[in-house]
This record gives sequence, structure tokens and C-alpha cells, in this order.
Amino acid sequence: MKNNSIEAAKKLAKLLQENPKQKVIFLVGAGISTSCGIPDFRSPETGLYHNLSKLNLPYAEAVFDIDFFEEKPRPFYLLASELYPGKFKPSRFHLLLKLFQDNKRLQRIYTQNIDTLERQAGISQEYIIEAHGSFAENHCINCKKIFKMDVFKEHLNKYQKDPSDKNFARCNSCNGLIKPNIVFFGEDLPKKFFTTWDSDLETMSEKETRPIVIVVGTSLTVYPFANLPTDVQKDTTRALISREIVGDFKVSPRKTDIIIETNSDDAADIIARELGWSKQLNNLIKEHDLLGTIPDVTEELESISKDIGKLTIKDDDSKATDPNSISKELDKLTIKNDIPKLKENKSSGENKKENKSDTSTEDTTKDKNKPSKNDRT
Ligand SMILES: [Zn+2]
Repeated sequence: MKNNSIEAAKKLAKLLQENPKQKVIFLVGAGISTSCGIPDFRSPETGLYHNLSKLNLPYAEAVFDIDFFEEKPRPFYLLASELYPGKFKPSRFHLLLKLFQDNKRLQRIYTQNIDTLERQAGISQEYIIEAHGSFAENHCINCKKIFKMDVFKEHLNKYQKDPSDKNFARCNSCNGLIKPNIVFFGEDLPKKFFTTWDSDLETMSEKETRPIVIVVGTSLTVYPFANLPTDVQKDTTRALISREIVGDFKVSPRKTDIIIETNSDDAADIIARELGWSKQLNNLIKEHDLLGTIPDVTEELESISKDIGKLTIKDDDSKATDPNSISKELDKLTIKNDIPKLKENKSSGENKKENKSDTSTEDTTKDKNKPSKNDRT
């Protein structure tokens, strides 16, 4: 870790020690789960999207596209079987989050992750907002009827035994496909995300209740989540733990921002040490048996890629759209960052400018709710 990042981590810890009643709101993303072996969807080279992009999917994010799912559910079943909760253990950073709870310093965790590792780390549900949903509940994509976790899981198990099985989880009322309540591109985020964020914003307006907001392991490219750091009231201290400076920290940096440029697990170690929590952290590491080896992600991803490759060769037809042209069109469609649909964007600043000067005349009706995509080449 660079010296200035160590200093920044110490500064953050000092701030927390000087204000013992002050709580913390964490805004977290895939970066806190990569050391658990869960692929970061958006990292170039190692990310899941990068691996998917080698395949014959019309575009990599299609696996999280509701229209694509309706037509071809199988790639999502394959991904779901890789990402399904229970396969992975929490990271050291997840355990640090648990220590914030145990030491009564946790106000909230807003997570973009669908891996439920916050829960597995032992954090109480009242503190967690799963902004992009989770596997815990399912619904029919047609009539919206709610189904329990087991319904999808049962079919996923069948799929795992026989990937050629076309007996997908279907609604007993309308025969629509059942899918976990993971927010796909073009779908609404859970209402709780907005209502809780509004009430957390209110706590920032009073000095006595003002939290510190710490953003960790996210590229801040998926909206509306990426707007949260921008919403943070000016007197509230923001911190960023990330390998690179991203989002609003880059576009509109504030003098009081604390920037810790490193991976989240290393940051967890130093923050725990500075707060005097090292022993507690080590106990949790032992409890969760994290001392063992970490699964080899590359190997696992390669096997997913191969499997998806097999599936798409069978399924795919000549209608597959040119990903480059879709990508260009979608980039134009992410003008409104404030609408509560899941969208992906390059970076708020750059795209806002691009979009303002761009008056699209192309026919884009079909893809209005689709995400914009990063060009990773
Ligand atoms: Zn239904």
C-alpha cells in the first residue's frame, strides 16, 4: 500500500476514534467480494463480462437482461449456479463490516452485490440494503407473483444435474418464467433502497447524527447506485477505498474526501489495527476459516465460458445483433441518471457531457431500458 494511502486510512480511523458516537454508512460493490473468488463483473481481463464477451451472446450483459432471459434463460441458469449463495466465504473486508456492527458503529451497508456475503458474515438484516436484490426471493416475470427461494433452487439443481434440461422454473398461475429477485438491467430497484437512503440522508443534516460515508470496491458505473456519493450532504465526510479513484470522487472531489487507494482486504487490516480491532478481526477470520486457500477464479471462469459457449452455439441464431452497434446506441441512452432503473455508465462526468451534446435520431425504441455498456477494448 502506498504511504499516502496508509496515512489516509489512519486519518479515517482517527476520525472515528475522535467521534465515538459517529456511525458509518458503507456503499460497497464487487471489489469486496473478489478475494472470495467471486468474479468482478466489470474488471477488464479478469471480469466476468470480459469472459462472457468472448462468447456468442449478443452482448455480455445479456445474461442480466430481462428480455434476453425471457427468450433464453439458460445462460442465466449457468451463471446462477456459479454465483448461488453458499459456495463462497466472506472476505476480510466483510468481517470488518461485521466488526463495525459489533462495535455499534454501523448505520447501514448499501451493497450492489448479490452474493449475500454480508449476511453470511453475520451482519443483521436491518443494516443491509441489497440494492440489486438477491436470490432470497423469486418472482414470476410475467404476473409478478412471489415465490420462495426453493422454487428456483429446485430447478437450478435439476439444471446442474442435466444442463440440457429445458424444464425451467415456471409460475403455477400463468406459466411465466420465475427468476430470483436480482435486479436485471431495465428493472426497478427495490423500493426499500430509495426509502432507506432518504432517511439516511436526513441523518446527515444534523451534526449529532451525521455519519461518515465510506465507498468501497465499486467502479461507480451502475446507476442509480453510482449517484449515492454525489447525494451525500457536503458536511458529511466521504471516504473511498478503491484501487483507483472513481465516480464522483474523480469528477467532483471534495477537500474533505479521504482516499485510500488499495484493495479492500488490505484496507480492512489497517483500519482494524488502527481502531484496535485486530484481535477481533483475527478471531472472525478463524471462525470463518479464511486461512485456507482461495479458489482459482481464472480456472473456474474458463470453465463457465466453455459451458456458455456450448450453449450459445446450440441456441444462437442469425438474429444475433452486432454488439458494437448496440453498444454505441446504448451509450446514447443513459442521459437520465436519476431514473430508478438499473443502468450502467462509463463515468458520470464523461457521459453527462457526451449525452448533452448528442441528439440521437436513431430508432432506439426497443433498447430504451437497456444498460449502456463499457467498451473494454
Ligand atoms: Zn405468473
